[in-house]
Amino acid sequence: MNSEELLQADSKIISNALKIRFYPITVKAAKGTKIIDHQDKEYLDLTAGWAVANTGYGDKRVADKLQEQYEALSFTTQLSAPEENMVHLAEKLISIIPGDFEKKVWFGHSGSDANECIAKLVPLSQNKPRMLSFMGGYHGQTLGSMSLSGHPAQSKFIGSGNVVKVPYPNPYRPLFGSKENLTGNIIDFIESEVFTTISPPEDTAGIVVEGIQSDGGLVVPPDDFLPELKKLCEDHNIYLIMDEVKVGLGRTGEWFSFDHASVAPDAVVLGKPLGGGMPISAVVGRKDILDAGTAVHMFTASGNPLSSAAALETLSIIKEEKLIRNAKEIGEYFSQQLCELQARYEIIGDVRGKGLAIGVELVEDGETKTPAIEETAAVCYRSYELGLLVYYVGIHSNVIEITPPLTITKEEVDFSISVLDQAFKDLEEKKI
Ligand code: PLP
Repeated sequence: MNSEELLQADSKIISNALKIRFYPITVKAAKGTKIIDHQDKEYLDLTAGWAVANTGYGDKRVADKLQEQYEALSFTTQLSAPEENMVHLAEKLISIIPGDFEKKVWFGHSGSDANECIAKLVPLSQNKPRMLSFMGGYHGQTLGSMSLSGHPAQSKFIGSGNVVKVPYPNPYRPLFGSKENLTGNIIDFIESEVFTTISPPEDTAGIVVEGIQSDGGLVVPPDDFLPELKKLCEDHNIYLIMDEVKVGLGRTGEWFSFDHASVAPDAVVLGKPLGGGMPISAVVGRKDILDAGTAVHMFTASGNPLSSAAALETLSIIKEEKLIRNAKEIGEYFSQQLCELQARYEIIGDVRGKGLAIGVELVEDGETKTPAIEETAAVCYRSYELGLLVYYVGIHSNVIEITPPLTITKEEVDFSISVLDQAFKDLEEKKI
């Protein structure tokens, strides 16, 4: 099939429920940091396929492991027999996640089913019906995970019953007007309003939070936010659940975003990059959460040997190739270069991030901060035409999200900056 035929067939028979498209690319192959389309044009992928390809695309070490595993044991169901790769993977995950308490691991296939696990097991383990989560948060598409989300794209659907949404601290757009005491204001709001009315601590089983709100607009909270949230949870016997599906496993320059704050969550949700492109997700957490019920959240392919083997190899590559250090160092360089662009283009209102999770927020005017929505889409589209894949996120769809493979080089950052520079120039000159 050529590109045209593929786009046509896709449009005719693939459900729109699966689609969010920023440009009409069709993908023939992917290698390292690059995507190749059906005309053999190469693109540098700053999305890492929505933050999946942390170790880059098509790593031969993962491919070899998969082949070896497929030939030895392609499938078994861990529902009726334990499987070695799955157990080793669980041991490995437990060893890199902080928390001085007994832990267990649950496995699934997507960030959504892992957050679904949280939605079911945390209330069950605490024998409390409610959860708190954050406005702008994104936790998945299944009913339970979507109920935890506070993203406007999902506001059409039912399912938010027992989840109370509270504001997330956004230094660029502080909800209570001032940047001062951003964390304190939110913690006070939870204690003095939420806990005294709709969801008292005796009814609140857990708080689910992203260390950086990615789909919500790559919002980086102040440094004191996670420590204060953890303290709030401890004071009121509530579990703190960190959703690390998108920014976990090295992206922020530490294994996990909460490592920057030295916080040990009661459970951690993992997905996207864990399997090096193979579908696998995990929840790692307190034994009493993961053992709250027997046979209550299981899928036929949970913990299958292929995904588990790929995940084990992916974790080794992250360590061996020192990709966490690369994320930190190249991430700092990337942010610096973007700040230089910000100094030249008024439309760039804010550049923020940690490691290789970076957001560039576009506004019509620096004072009013009116979101520059069409312009954001235009810059992403122009970048695509120039061989660079970026897309936008955020509750206003005006934040360019940069989450490349952690293998990205300084030269590739320089190329990215030159493309973005051109796209902003074309925008300024009204060529796009
Ligand atoms: N949690 C976070 C923080 C995410 O960013 C996403 C997806 O973008 C999910 C959960 C859902 O993951 P999946 O799309 O694999 O179901």
